[in-house]
Amino acid sequence: MTTPTRVLVLNSGSSSVKYQLLDMRDTSRLAVGLVERIGEDTSRLKHTPLAVEGAETREFEGPIADHAAALAAVAAELAKDGLGLDSPELAAVGHRVVHGGKYFTVPTVIDDAVLKEIKRLIPVAPLHNPANVMGIEVAMELRPDLPQVAVFDTSFHTTMPESAARYAIDVATADEHRIHRYGFHGTSHAYVSRETAKLLGKAPAEVNVIVLHLGNGASASAVRGGRCVDTSMGLTPLEGLVMGTRSGDIDPAVIFHLNRVAGMDIDTIDALLNKKSGMIGLCGDNDMREITRRMNEGDDSARLAFEIYVHRLKKYIGAYSAVLGHVDALTFTAGVGENSTAVREAAVAGLEGFGLAVDPVLNETRADGARLISPPAARVAVAVVPTDEELEIATSAYALVRG
Ligand code: ADP
Repeated sequence: MTTPTRVLVLNSGSSSVKYQLLDMRDTSRLAVGLVERIGEDTSRLKHTPLAVEGAETREFEGPIADHAAALAAVAAELAKDGLGLDSPELAAVGHRVVHGGKYFTVPTVIDDAVLKEIKRLIPVAPLHNPANVMGIEVAMELRPDLPQVAVFDTSFHTTMPESAARYAIDVATADEHRIHRYGFHGTSHAYVSRETAKLLGKAPAEVNVIVLHLGNGASASAVRGGRCVDTSMGLTPLEGLVMGTRSGDIDPAVIFHLNRVAGMDIDTIDALLNKKSGMIGLCGDNDMREITRRMNEGDDSARLAFEIYVHRLKKYIGAYSAVLGHVDALTFTAGVGENSTAVREAAVAGLEGFGLAVDPVLNETRADGARLISPPAARVAVAVVPTDEELEIATSAYALVRG
């Protein structure tokens, strides 16, 4: 009998499912794809079978009613390439689960009790955990015999000391309602901080790293010797850096003001801060490529948005330098961090006093893998490390099921 070596990674959102099938012998991708606009008439499935020589991406548009139908469609696509979910070569399904609270500190094989706890966290993750639960339940129905592993966005941050993880509010109220700084993007921060250590030729335990995960959502973390000691997102992914559509840090009294003075109800304010703020609120665009293009053409609102974005980044770099005391590396990752030379240059400009500098040529040089962009003599390494949350989920899930 063959030893199963494949892991299917599922990232289920409220109206989408992203997936990758990996072969863990060499961590190669056998297939990748996504289903979007689930529940609408114009749902879309995009499937790329990488394992099949010469096979092309297949796309379909049409109604896909729910997550069960979406996963059935994905299974059918995989089966066409001989990669079906009924294959004995499948070792596990790894699920991205956004909120694991304080309880899930490591990837966990899902049983009824685990599923119940993930559901119990829905009040603190109302947008994400219900979709994650749907993905898990559908996958369990499809292959009840297969280990299903939950990998939580919050786990990496459970090592934060109470001093960083607690808000300074009434303790009894905080405890009763589980109001706590949980942090998110943990799989990325874990993977990228480890890869940064590798790039420096050291063990994770030997280095202190500040990771800037700058995608549409954005967060910073301070990682001391491989353990997270602070992160910028909190109870929800709204806190911290300026993001594509989220405000990041604001005075909470802005909310009272919008309610009492501007007459907005709480759901309107929620949508304003999560969906209509950040870069889109400031300048009407949330894609950093478009923002830098406009800025270079002399657009003032794009420039101001960029400056606000960078100012917040600098504040977190400074804060986390102080939290860590000694910094070995500052690492940029995710869509903006990996690609925007302008953001990297501006975020580090003027921080020579912190030992931080970017070499302009290295910063401009495009490359696929992890790389240093600081001058060779710099006191603190500045790195670009492509994140790979799917690989991290697959690796964790596979390690767990293989023992
Ligand atoms: P998500 O949070 O959706 O996973 P990503 O990490 O994929 O986001 O990042 C998406 C963002 O990355 C885009 O909105 C865009 O702002 C930015 N981005 C992608 N490519 C580039 C580029 N070449 N230059 C600047 N920014 C880029």
